[in-house]
Amino acid sequence: MTPIIEFQHVDKYYGKLHALKDINLTINEGEVVSIIGPSGSGKSTLIRTMNGLESINSGRLIVNGYDLADNKTNINKIRKNVGMVFQHFNLYENYTVLGNIKLAPRVVLHRSEEENEAIAMDLLKKVGLENKAHMYPRNLSGGQQQRVAIARSLAMKPKVILFDEPTSALDPEMIQDVLDVMKLVAEEGITMVVVTHEMGFAREVGNRLIFFEQGRVLEDRKPDEFFDNPETDRAKEFLSKII
Ligand code: ADP
Ligand code: MG
Repeated sequence: MTPIIEFQHVDKYYGKLHALKDINLTINEGEVVSIIGPSGSGKSTLIRTMNGLESINSGRLIVNGYDLADNKTNINKIRKNVGMVFQHFNLYENYTVLGNIKLAPRVVLHRSEEENEAIAMDLLKKVGLENKAHMYPRNLSGGQQQRVAIARSLAMKPKVILFDEPTSALDPEMIQDVLDVMKLVAEEGITMVVVTHEMGFAREVGNRLIFFEQGRVLEDRKPDEFFDNPETDRAKEFLSKII
Protein backbone atom coordinates (compact mmCIF):
# COMPACT_ATOMS: atom_id res chain seq x y z
CA MET A 1 0.00 0.00 0.00
CA THR A 2 1.27 3.45 -0.91
CA PRO A 3 0.32 6.27 1.46
CA ILE A 4 -0.99 9.36 -0.29
CA ILE A 5 -2.35 11.34 2.69
CA GLU A 6 -0.67 11.12 6.09
CA PHE A 7 -1.74 12.94 9.25
CA GLN A 8 0.77 12.79 12.08
CA HIS A 9 -0.37 14.29 15.39
CA VAL A 10 -2.38 16.98 13.64
CA ASP A 11 -4.23 19.58 15.69
CA LYS A 12 -6.45 22.35 14.43
CA TYR A 13 -8.04 25.18 16.38
CA TYR A 14 -10.60 27.82 15.46
CA GLY A 15 -9.71 30.31 18.16
CA LYS A 16 -10.28 28.32 21.33
CA LEU A 17 -12.30 25.61 19.64
CA HIS A 18 -10.21 22.45 19.31
CA ALA A 19 -11.60 21.16 15.99
CA LEU A 20 -9.08 18.39 15.20
CA LYS A 21 -7.47 16.55 18.09
CA ASP A 22 -4.23 14.67 17.55
CA ILE A 23 -5.24 13.13 14.22
CA ASN A 24 -3.11 10.18 13.12
CA LEU A 25 -4.43 8.78 9.88
CA THR A 26 -2.93 7.34 6.72
CA ILE A 27 -4.92 7.07 3.50
CA ASN A 28 -3.46 4.88 0.78
CA GLU A 29 -3.66 5.12 -2.99
CA GLY A 30 -6.84 3.58 -4.35
CA GLU A 31 -8.77 3.56 -1.09
CA VAL A 32 -12.35 4.78 -0.92
CA VAL A 33 -12.69 6.16 2.58
CA SER A 34 -16.07 7.24 3.92
CA ILE A 35 -16.15 9.62 6.85
CA ILE A 36 -19.32 9.68 8.90
CA GLY A 37 -20.22 11.28 12.20
CA PRO A 38 -22.44 13.85 13.88
CA SER A 39 -22.84 17.38 12.62
CA GLY A 40 -20.20 19.70 14.05
CA SER A 41 -17.75 16.87 14.79
CA GLY A 42 -15.09 18.27 12.42
CA LYS A 43 -15.58 16.18 9.28
CA SER A 44 -15.47 19.16 6.92
CA THR A 45 -12.49 20.58 8.75
CA LEU A 46 -10.68 17.27 8.42
CA ILE A 47 -11.32 16.90 4.69
CA ARG A 48 -10.60 20.57 3.96
CA THR A 49 -7.15 20.33 5.53
CA MET A 50 -6.32 17.65 2.95
CA ASN A 51 -6.04 20.19 0.13
CA GLY A 52 -5.06 23.17 2.22
CA LEU A 53 -8.47 24.85 2.38
CA GLU A 54 -7.96 24.86 6.15
CA SER A 55 -4.55 25.25 7.76
CA ILE A 56 -3.38 23.14 10.69
CA ASN A 57 -1.85 24.35 13.94
CA SER A 58 0.53 21.52 14.72
CA GLY A 59 1.68 18.12 13.54
CA ARG A 60 2.57 17.00 10.05
CA LEU A 61 0.27 16.52 7.09
CA ILE A 62 1.84 14.97 4.01
CA VAL A 63 -0.28 14.96 0.86
CA ASN A 64 1.08 13.41 -2.32
CA GLY A 65 4.60 13.86 -0.97
CA TYR A 66 4.24 17.53 0.06
CA ASP A 67 4.20 18.71 3.66
CA LEU A 68 1.20 21.00 4.08
CA ALA A 69 2.54 22.41 7.35
CA ASP A 70 5.63 23.70 5.55
CA ASN A 71 4.94 27.19 4.26
CA LYS A 72 7.38 26.62 1.41
CA THR A 73 4.94 24.08 -0.01
CA ASN A 74 3.15 25.45 -3.05
CA ILE A 75 -0.51 24.74 -2.41
CA ASN A 76 -1.28 24.76 -6.14
CA LYS A 77 0.94 21.72 -6.61
CA ILE A 78 -1.24 19.86 -4.17
CA ARG A 79 -4.54 21.04 -5.63
CA LYS A 80 -3.45 19.88 -9.08
CA ASN A 81 -3.61 16.32 -7.82
CA VAL A 82 -6.27 16.64 -5.15
CA GLY A 83 -9.71 17.64 -6.41
CA MET A 84 -12.67 18.63 -4.31
CA VAL A 85 -16.42 18.31 -4.73
CA PHE A 86 -18.55 20.44 -2.39
CA GLN A 87 -22.06 20.14 -1.02
CA HIS A 88 -23.17 23.21 -2.97
CA PHE A 89 -21.38 22.32 -6.26
CA ASN A 90 -19.55 25.68 -6.53
CA LEU A 91 -19.65 25.77 -10.33
CA TYR A 92 -18.59 28.96 -12.10
CA GLU A 93 -21.92 30.59 -12.93
CA ASN A 94 -20.53 32.60 -15.85
CA TYR A 95 -19.19 29.57 -17.69
CA THR A 96 -21.11 26.91 -19.54
CA VAL A 97 -20.94 23.31 -18.40
CA LEU A 98 -18.16 22.66 -20.90
CA GLY A 99 -16.44 25.90 -19.90
CA ASN A 100 -16.46 24.83 -16.25
CA ILE A 101 -14.80 21.54 -17.10
CA LYS A 102 -12.20 23.01 -19.45
CA LEU A 103 -11.09 25.96 -17.30
CA ALA A 104 -8.57 24.45 -14.87
CA PRO A 105 -6.95 22.06 -17.36
CA ARG A 106 -6.40 25.01 -19.71
CA VAL A 107 -5.10 27.44 -17.09
CA VAL A 108 -3.23 25.08 -14.81
CA LEU A 109 -2.15 22.22 -17.08
CA HIS A 110 -1.96 24.21 -20.36
CA ARG A 111 -3.79 21.38 -22.08
CA SER A 112 -4.35 22.07 -25.79
CA GLU A 113 -7.85 23.18 -26.79
CA GLU A 114 -8.42 20.11 -28.96
CA GLU A 115 -7.43 17.65 -26.25
CA ASN A 116 -9.23 19.64 -23.58
CA GLU A 117 -12.48 19.58 -25.54
CA ALA A 118 -12.20 15.85 -26.24
CA ILE A 119 -11.52 14.98 -22.61
CA ALA A 120 -14.31 17.26 -21.37
CA MET A 121 -16.85 15.75 -23.78
CA ASP A 122 -15.81 12.23 -22.77
CA LEU A 123 -16.34 13.14 -19.14
CA LEU A 124 -19.74 14.64 -19.86
CA LYS A 125 -20.71 11.36 -21.52
CA LYS A 126 -19.50 9.48 -18.49
CA VAL A 127 -21.69 11.51 -16.15
CA GLY A 128 -24.63 11.35 -18.57
CA LEU A 129 -24.75 15.04 -19.50
CA GLU A 130 -23.30 15.34 -22.98
CA ASN A 131 -26.48 17.09 -24.12
CA LYS A 132 -25.97 19.83 -21.50
CA ALA A 133 -22.48 20.88 -22.64
CA HIS A 134 -23.50 24.38 -23.74
CA MET A 135 -25.92 25.17 -20.94
CA TYR A 136 -25.19 27.32 -17.90
CA PRO A 137 -25.21 25.87 -14.37
CA ARG A 138 -28.34 27.82 -13.35
CA ASN A 139 -30.36 25.91 -15.93
CA LEU A 140 -29.40 22.52 -14.53
CA SER A 141 -30.90 20.61 -11.61
CA GLY A 142 -28.84 20.20 -8.47
CA GLY A 143 -28.04 16.61 -9.31
CA GLN A 144 -26.90 17.59 -12.80
CA GLN A 145 -24.76 20.41 -11.41
CA GLN A 146 -23.11 18.03 -8.99
CA ARG A 147 -22.34 15.59 -11.81
CA VAL A 148 -20.73 18.48 -13.72
CA ALA A 149 -18.69 19.29 -10.60
CA ILE A 150 -17.46 15.70 -10.50
CA ALA A 151 -16.59 15.80 -14.21
CA ARG A 152 -14.77 19.09 -13.65
CA SER A 153 -12.74 17.51 -10.90
CA LEU A 154 -11.93 14.43 -13.02
CA ALA A 155 -10.74 16.61 -15.90
CA MET A 156 -7.60 17.43 -13.92
CA LYS A 157 -6.85 13.69 -13.70
CA PRO A 158 -6.29 13.99 -9.97
CA LYS A 159 -4.89 11.27 -7.76
CA VAL A 160 -7.41 12.02 -5.04
CA ILE A 161 -10.90 13.48 -4.99
CA LEU A 162 -12.33 14.81 -1.74
CA PHE A 163 -16.12 14.91 -1.46
CA ASP A 164 -17.78 16.91 1.33
CA GLU A 165 -21.39 15.75 1.61
CA PRO A 166 -21.87 15.73 -2.16
CA THR A 167 -25.51 14.64 -2.00
CA SER A 168 -26.70 16.53 1.07
CA ALA A 169 -28.09 19.49 -0.84
CA LEU A 170 -29.96 17.36 -3.38
CA ASP A 171 -33.59 16.38 -3.68
CA PRO A 172 -33.96 12.67 -2.91
CA GLU A 173 -34.68 11.65 -6.49
CA MET A 174 -31.37 13.09 -7.66
CA ILE A 175 -29.14 11.48 -5.10
CA GLN A 176 -28.82 8.11 -6.78
CA ASP A 177 -27.56 9.54 -10.09
CA VAL A 178 -24.75 11.28 -8.25
CA LEU A 179 -23.92 8.20 -6.19
CA ASP A 180 -23.83 6.13 -9.39
CA VAL A 181 -21.26 8.51 -10.87
CA MET A 182 -19.21 8.35 -7.68
CA LYS A 183 -19.29 4.58 -7.90
CA LEU A 184 -17.92 4.75 -11.45
CA VAL A 185 -15.10 6.98 -10.21
CA ALA A 186 -14.34 4.54 -7.40
CA GLU A 187 -14.17 1.66 -9.86
CA GLU A 188 -11.44 3.49 -11.77
CA GLY A 189 -9.20 3.33 -8.74
CA ILE A 190 -8.97 7.04 -7.92
CA THR A 191 -8.42 7.58 -4.21
CA MET A 192 -11.61 9.01 -2.72
CA VAL A 193 -12.33 10.54 0.66
CA VAL A 194 -16.05 11.06 1.10
CA VAL A 195 -17.85 12.76 3.96
CA THR A 196 -21.34 11.39 3.63
CA HIS A 197 -24.65 10.54 5.23
CA GLU A 198 -25.31 7.90 2.57
CA MET A 199 -24.78 4.72 4.53
CA GLY A 200 -25.51 2.55 1.48
CA PHE A 201 -22.62 4.17 -0.36
CA ALA A 202 -20.36 3.90 2.70
CA ARG A 203 -21.09 0.21 3.05
CA GLU A 204 -21.13 -0.87 -0.58
CA VAL A 205 -18.69 1.39 -2.41
CA GLY A 206 -16.36 2.45 0.37
CA ASN A 207 -13.65 0.06 1.47
CA ARG A 208 -12.87 1.86 4.68
CA LEU A 209 -15.01 3.67 7.17
CA ILE A 210 -14.05 6.37 9.62
CA PHE A 211 -16.42 7.35 12.39
CA PHE A 212 -15.50 10.87 13.46
CA GLU A 213 -16.71 12.44 16.68
CA GLN A 214 -15.67 15.60 18.58
CA GLY A 215 -12.53 16.12 16.51
CA ARG A 216 -11.26 12.56 16.78
CA VAL A 217 -11.21 9.36 14.77
CA LEU A 218 -13.28 7.06 16.98
CA GLU A 219 -13.43 4.07 14.65
CA ASP A 220 -11.47 3.22 11.49
CA ARG A 221 -12.77 -0.06 10.15
CA LYS A 222 -13.96 -2.09 7.20
CA PRO A 223 -17.48 -0.79 6.47
CA ASP A 224 -19.27 -4.14 6.94
CA GLU A 225 -17.57 -4.66 10.28
CA PHE A 226 -18.47 -1.18 11.42
CA PHE A 227 -22.13 -1.37 10.45
CA ASP A 228 -22.61 -4.93 11.74
CA ASN A 229 -20.71 -4.40 14.94
CA PRO A 230 -19.81 -0.81 15.92
CA GLU A 231 -17.34 -0.84 18.79
CA THR A 232 -18.02 2.46 20.52
CA ASP A 233 -21.19 3.53 22.28
CA ARG A 234 -21.08 6.82 20.36
CA ALA A 235 -21.12 4.99 17.03
CA LYS A 236 -23.95 2.73 18.19
CA GLU A 237 -25.96 5.75 19.24
CA PHE A 238 -25.23 7.55 15.95
CA LEU A 239 -26.28 4.55 13.87
CA SER A 240 -29.44 3.98 15.89
CA LYS A 241 -30.54 7.53 15.01
CA ILE A 242 -29.93 7.37 11.29
CA ILE A 243 -30.68 3.82 10.18
P1 ADP B 1 -18.85 18.90 10.43
O1 ADP B 1 -18.43 19.01 9.01
O2 ADP B 1 -18.61 17.56 11.04
O3 ADP B 1 -20.28 19.33 10.63
P2 ADP B 1 -17.09 21.17 10.85
O4 ADP B 1 -15.73 20.74 10.49
O5 ADP B 1 -17.83 22.01 9.88
O6 ADP B 1 -17.96 19.91 11.30
O7 ADP B 1 -17.03 22.00 12.21
C1 ADP B 1 -16.34 21.51 13.36
C2 ADP B 1 -16.43 22.58 14.44
O8 ADP B 1 -15.66 23.72 14.04
C3 ADP B 1 -17.84 23.10 14.69
O9 ADP B 1 -17.97 23.38 16.06
C4 ADP B 1 -17.90 24.37 13.86
O10 ADP B 1 -18.81 25.28 14.40
C5 ADP B 1 -16.47 24.89 13.97
N1 ADP B 1 -16.03 25.63 12.78
C6 ADP B 1 -16.02 25.19 11.51
N2 ADP B 1 -15.52 26.10 10.67
C7 ADP B 1 -15.21 27.18 11.44
C8 ADP B 1 -14.66 28.47 11.16
N3 ADP B 1 -14.31 28.82 9.91
N4 ADP B 1 -14.49 29.31 12.20
C9 ADP B 1 -14.83 28.95 13.45
N5 ADP B 1 -15.35 27.76 13.79
C10 ADP B 1 -15.55 26.88 12.79
MG1 MG C 1 -19.49 19.44 7.28
